[in-house]
Amino acid sequence: MARAAGPERRLLAVYTGGTLGMRSERGVLVPGAGLATVLRALPMFHDEEYARTRGLPEDTLVLPPASPDQRVIYTVLECQPLFDSSDMTIVEWVQIAQTIERHYEQYDGFVVIHGTDTMAFAASVLSFVLENLQKAVILTGAQVPIHALWNDGRENLLGALLMAAQNLIPEVCLFFQNQLFRGNRVTKVDARRFAAFCSPNLPPLAVVGTDVMINQELVRRVRRKDQLLVHSNMEQDVGLLRLYPGIPASLVRAFLQPPLKGVVMETFGSGNGPTKPELLQELQVAARRGLVIINCTHCLQGTVTSDYAASRAMVGAGIVSGFDMTSEAALAKLSYVLGQPGLSLDSRKELLARDLRGEMTLPTVDMCQPLLQHSLLSRGVTQLLSLSQEAHAVRDALMPSLACAVARAGDMEALQVLVELGSDLSREDFNGQTPLHAAARGGHPGAVTMLLRRGADVNAQDEDGLSPLLLAVRGRHQRVIGLLRAAGACLSPQELEDTGTELCRLASRVDLEGLRVWWQAGADLGQPGYDGRSALLVAEAAGNLEVVSLLQSLQRGPGAQAPSPDVLPGV
Ligand code: ASP
Repeated sequence: MARAAGPERRLLAVYTGGTLGMRSERGVLVPGAGLATVLRALPMFHDEEYARTRGLPEDTLVLPPASPDQRVIYTVLECQPLFDSSDMTIVEWVQIAQTIERHYEQYDGFVVIHGTDTMAFAASVLSFVLENLQKAVILTGAQVPIHALWNDGRENLLGALLMAAQNLIPEVCLFFQNQLFRGNRVTKVDARRFAAFCSPNLPPLAVVGTDVMINQELVRRVRRKDQLLVHSNMEQDVGLLRLYPGIPASLVRAFLQPPLKGVVMETFGSGNGPTKPELLQELQVAARRGLVIINCTHCLQGTVTSDYAASRAMVGAGIVSGFDMTSEAALAKLSYVLGQPGLSLDSRKELLARDLRGEMTLPTVDMCQPLLQHSLLSRGVTQLLSLSQEAHAVRDALMPSLACAVARAGDMEALQVLVELGSDLSREDFNGQTPLHAAARGGHPGAVTMLLRRGADVNAQDEDGLSPLLLAVRGRHQRVIGLLRAAGACLSPQELEDTGTELCRLASRVDLEGLRVWWQAGADLGQPGYDGRSALLVAEAAGNLEVVSLLQSLQRGPGAQAPSPDVLPGV
């Protein structure tokens, strides 16, 4: 008898190709279709009896019980076509991210079965495309196909499924040879041995032996309120240039030409490069043209510094330090940052210099340079960011007020910086105001849109019971009112309490705009004031025909003439 259905964890396994499922055809390995069928026949991957009892569909398998009280059910989604990962590009990786997005609510975690050759690139890209992950996305693969008697595929896949089901580390990770690595820290180092990957500058997040040992202090904190964001807009015109002794300046010039927008430059040792003026000049010219260059060391371990004249020359040429990032992570980060719309060149460089997804280790505070120069607020944000790890608590305490100040000023760049820092933009300041209150009050449609997209509570109330919508009404910010209404904002009964009196006051002053914004915010224009008269009666008594006709047209009900869209967008 099959065990009764206990708590179940549901996973989606996206099979993209790679050696794990490959078959030999005419002496070469090619991607093999039908992985679910193969796994179905392997008892370590499927409990047929349990599946039958539960009536699971063909593509859905169930692991034998790993613990008495839990079952891992996983659906294999086979990509069309299947790839040797040498053929995969950012386009396919973004599609994988979008698949995860589509199924995000349905599953407790995700496994991506991928070829090992470009798995480090894939993991890096996914880590930037998927922001605010609350569920594990684990890439895995094999050096030897799962059909072979002696292979690493079975162990890797089983481990990835079990780790994803536990969801102890909600990040983009790579599982190989009993180690769970942060996805954007790995690089493939061996083409033959089962231990194909290493994470040269960050220990594994977890190691599986008789127990699972998790490196808790390395796991990134999740903000439960933040919604998953999928950044599909990744810049593809980025490249990787490895310097070598004697590299001609003409070759570098040829490489740096448009349409290239960003380059990861692999340098020697701690970020050193040749100091011959022709070469530096090529880099400077390209950087002045707006090409973004990141300096990464070709050494597996260690970081880029400016200890040497040869590395300082790179900084002088306008090149951003990649510190201890792998080239794979740097390339993915460059795509992500250059794909972000509406940022200035300085802001892009600023983002690149920041640790966004745990991809690099920043130097200690005294080595940090001021990064944002353009606004006072941005400078303030930068100073906060440079606080050391120990000052996290201070930073967290100041963050809500800072976020409100930034939103009130409508400073999109500083807001973006806060986002990248992982700030919770829905937290209240000491007045109970959220950044959305501040942006609405300041009348900044851009900031309001961004905060709404990030899941800000549109009807949040501050300590005085005021909503962002009321603040926008008071400031007569019609575009903001439109955006808030479109997002479901409503004035609360408390906010509407004295509206009648306010409408009468506006009517007697012939304040057409004032009347319009209240109407736009959803107020009932027929509400009586303190003396029982409505705004219409007040206007009629005073003979204000303009006000009378406006109120009549606005109050005409469902057939009322819609306000012109440029005045009231989004309503
Ligand atoms: N060439 C294969 C691929 O990357 C190698 C592998 O999967 O290990 O798809």
